[in-house]
Amino acid sequence: MSEPAKLSESINPQLNERFQALLAKYAAQHPGESAAQIEDAFQLALSLHAGQKRRSGEPYLIHPLEVAHILADMTSDGTCLVTGLLHDTVEDTPITIDELRKRFGDGVAACVDGVTKLSKLKFYDREERQAESVRKMLLAMVKDIRVVLIKLADRLHNMRTLGALPRDRQERIAQETLEIYAPIAHRLGMGKIRAELEDLGFQYTDPQAHGEILEAIDSKRKANQGLLEEIRGAVQTKLRREGIPARIEARLKRPYSIWQKLKRQKIGIDQVYDLLAVRIITDSVKNCYAALGTLHGDWHPIPGRIKDFIAIPRPNLYQSLHTSVIGPGGQPFEVQIRTEEMHRIAEEGIAAHWKYKEGKKGDLQQDEQQIAWLRQLVEWQREMRDPGEFMSTLKVDLFPEEVYSFTPKGRVIILPRDATPIDFAYAIHTEVGNQCVGAKVNGRIVPLKYGLKNGDVVDILTQQGHLPSKDWLSIAKTSKARNKIKAVINTTERAKAIEIGEKYLEREARRLGVQWKKITKEQLVSVASEYGFPKMEDLHAALGYGKFSPRQVLIKLAPEQVEEAERVSAPAEPAAPAQAKPDDKDLVIKVKGLDDVMVYRAKCCNPIRGEAIVGYITRGKGVAVHSLACNNVQNLMYEVERKIGVEWARAAEDTFAVKLTVYTDDRPGILSQLTSVVFHEGSNIRALEAQPDTQRSDGSAIISMVVDVRDKKQLERVIAAVRRISGVRDVDRVQ
Ligand code: MN
Repeated sequence: MSEPAKLSESINPQLNERFQALLAKYAAQHPGESAAQIEDAFQLALSLHAGQKRRSGEPYLIHPLEVAHILADMTSDGTCLVTGLLHDTVEDTPITIDELRKRFGDGVAACVDGVTKLSKLKFYDREERQAESVRKMLLAMVKDIRVVLIKLADRLHNMRTLGALPRDRQERIAQETLEIYAPIAHRLGMGKIRAELEDLGFQYTDPQAHGEILEAIDSKRKANQGLLEEIRGAVQTKLRREGIPARIEARLKRPYSIWQKLKRQKIGIDQVYDLLAVRIITDSVKNCYAALGTLHGDWHPIPGRIKDFIAIPRPNLYQSLHTSVIGPGGQPFEVQIRTEEMHRIAEEGIAAHWKYKEGKKGDLQQDEQQIAWLRQLVEWQREMRDPGEFMSTLKVDLFPEEVYSFTPKGRVIILPRDATPIDFAYAIHTEVGNQCVGAKVNGRIVPLKYGLKNGDVVDILTQQGHLPSKDWLSIAKTSKARNKIKAVINTTERAKAIEIGEKYLEREARRLGVQWKKITKEQLVSVASEYGFPKMEDLHAALGYGKFSPRQVLIKLAPEQVEEAERVSAPAEPAAPAQAKPDDKDLVIKVKGLDDVMVYRAKCCNPIRGEAIVGYITRGKGVAVHSLACNNVQNLMYEVERKIGVEWARAAEDTFAVKLTVYTDDRPGILSQLTSVVFHEGSNIRALEAQPDTQRSDGSAIISMVVDVRDKKQLERVIAAVRRISGVRDVDRVQ
């Protein structure tokens, strides 16, 4: 124990003096409690930050020490003070959270960790909407409200010493303070800290306006000072006369609130007549109303300025009566009337709730407009005997219906709870959504159906030309994503249907002996309009979707030819593929001896050129073509008479889609390498999706992809090339 003592002797006397003052504050607030951890934290911070200097040239330790002082002024508990002293050690010195945990316990470790995480967040965007989401997100992210208090104390001290920083950083930090931290202090009801943050933020974001307001106030200082004293005296006299005990504060309004008023009312500083404000703090709610009545009895109230926040507290539990009156000599001034208890809550907010066990009962609960969390806060406070326990158990779940996630660049994306990476991708951009093939959350590949959590950093993996699939509709939670997915699916399905419908019609025309070349576009358009379609494409699409048969169209175009053909030859049209939507790729397979039979490649084995194949006549869907090696073939072939010979047609340009599964290490660059080897083999990736391998816990991934190949040989080359990529463990063709 002699070593720390020596250290403290050798330290800067100013630091030592401030630390002694901190201990004194703590001892006064927590009589009889040990300050050993606080002393230990100070010694540790002293040695860790040794040699580090603030921009002002002062020793760095001044900062954590002053942060601890601000916390002590909120009457914070020991954990808060220890965290205040250590809050920058993990970020700026070699010590780790685990080491802090061993030395100071879980509470301190969790708080330092929380503060460190918050300071790593970057708030890039400056939009108003974005500021609101950052505020919400920040509150939603912290598990222990003490983290917010420490963060606010940290920011307050940084704002107090902002003068030492270069101008651009001053501006950025001050802006962030006004947009993020002051509103959070406000939301938590911490009026005092909020006021100081706002005035400092104002001073650095708009030094000119700030200067002008100070100057204007200063030029009238003497007159104002006299007025304030006069008003104070007059109020005092009246209240005494009525027997209302009261403490009276008379003050000038804050520069920031004057500025807000100037902006709101679009007036100049000389037009602001009520720079003066009086606060009456009395002993009971009854006396609040009595004081209001007394003032209004003698001085004329300004209409529309009376507000009863006692009967209807603000959402942050603020309570007061507000009014403005025309006082002595026609001088208007603002009045706030409240009890001591209300005053404490107005100044300290959440910190006030936390430090006194004997919470006020009844009144606070009456108002239904209080937002749920603050009501809950008060409830919990009653249930728990130890306020420290109360605070550390408290989980701030202010906005349970929303999740706050980030892009890798720090932009906040707000999504509904249970949203997935697909929602995230569409929230960024429609194309990012459409081309999404996988996602990394906090650096690791996750399934697309992963439920996003607060604070997740999401990196969307995209593949050019990729399109969403139907099953995404069950994964996406936001209506934006769902609508975009539906739109793409409808468009591609329609394009396919048009193509199929067109070919189907032509083929049937040939079969029925209709002289197709003599049919004009005009004739087709006119048939289309008979069906109520404005365009020929609509007619083709309807045929492709199987809404009616080509024969119905052809009989309108060339009734004699169709009837003649049917009378002479076939008994009937072959079973029309009502629901079948054969791919035009199927035309590369021919049924032996027959030209005009609908064929399609069976989904179960998806045969490709070069493989031995066999046809099977289905009921109403044409001929299914299987690979001879297909497992289903044996079972399907029990009706031998429905088996039919098929062969590959000669068209050489066609390709086949084949689904592959790649088992691989999840390492950076794997996707681009995969893309490049497939491309190198002259093949094309039609779809790709990366998922973590849930069977393994070592960060392996499974990549599903659909490649287009010409034949069996090309497929074998692609598979071999993918196998050669380092990190790839195996490749399967999906049957
Ligand atoms: Mn700090």
